Amino acid sequence: MQLNIKEKEIVYKCYKCGKVSSSNFQLKCDSCGGLIKPIDNLKEYEINCSALDVERYWDFLPLEKPEERLPFGNRRTPLIHSVKIGDLFNIDNLFLKDETKNNTRSTKDRMAIVASNFMKEKKIEDFVVTSTGNSTSAFGYLLNRIETEKIAHIRMHCIIPKEFKQRHRNLESENISIYEVDDNFSNAHKIARDLANKNNFKYEGGFFNCARRAGLSMAFLEAWEQLNSDFSFYFQAVSSGMGIYGVYETALKLKKSGYIKKLPKLVCIQQESCNPMVKAFMDDSSVILDKHKVDKPFGLAKAILRGDPSESYPYLYEAINNTNGSFISVSDSEIEEARLLLNKVENIGATYDGAVALAGAIKYFKEYNLEDKQEPALVNITG
Ligand SMILES: [Zn+2]
Repeated sequence: MQLNIKEKEIVYKCYKCGKVSSSNFQLKCDSCGGLIKPIDNLKEYEINCSALDVERYWDFLPLEKPEERLPFGNRRTPLIHSVKIGDLFNIDNLFLKDETKNNTRSTKDRMAIVASNFMKEKKIEDFVVTSTGNSTSAFGYLLNRIETEKIAHIRMHCIIPKEFKQRHRNLESENISIYEVDDNFSNAHKIARDLANKNNFKYEGGFFNCARRAGLSMAFLEAWEQLNSDFSFYFQAVSSGMGIYGVYETALKLKKSGYIKKLPKLVCIQQESCNPMVKAFMDDSSVILDKHKVDKPFGLAKAILRGDPSESYPYLYEAINNTNGSFISVSDSEIEEARLLLNKVENIGATYDGAVALAGAIKYFKEYNLEDKQEPALVNITG
């Protein structure tokens, strides 16, 4: 079948003040600092027929030029109806999206391919990134496998907090520079921004990069397509929350196009030892206050050790309330139990990071006696 991937035009609108710009690579509104939302000129969203996620979900991504796209993407990961785990906890329709089957074993591969295409379209040559390991490794994998000249000009500068050094992979490449810093993850973002400003590089923006958010939402789109029905619940472990916010933005488009009837209840999961968002939500606060922050984050799930998510939390707070979702914490023993279940019952080699979302789903259904608990629930199991 002939692929018919549409060209489109995108403008960027501030979520807060509504200011519109057609800027090349804008992370925040230049008037108020708000989050930027990409708005395209498509009349309807279609799903293309392709084995690669970027091509299949092209209409939902902030990419404009099909002829410039990279010649790869991610292949489908399994969607598992986990009857056995569901039966243990009285959850009728528990579905696991096994994102450990991606190339770098994490859902961040979805982000990296879309963000790389985005940078290529915007003609960005040097970008600065910081992560606890998975995002940087996913970018590294792509930059390493770029055997064509297509993005050989893109150079990645990685700020790596010392404590997460071992979690970084795929970084041996001529177009990757590493800067090890002895600081926590929240401060590493400030260091990354400074490095970018000083050298005229692009800070790629994490949560505020719309290509990252849309890329991560492809796991949800794919699961929805695989189920061929709506999910009533969506569970994901959160650090800045960019994945779940991406799902929110994409679900709004699906609803607007009539593909789904209602938005899934979005549930953000953190571990008890580092749960600033949960604490703020329990206080019914729309912002992170000093008392919610965690100075020296620690915990089993290393990928989500962010003690200060002040910048992204207000957007998540609104999204989670709009979908009647929640923020909940899980303990070490709950994470351990979920990991064992994934490993032994479903043969999914999940890490602690991957197990957090399942632990959260189990706890959520235990704590809330919901009328719609028999409806399909999707859990994103990342590596
Ligand atoms: Zn604004």
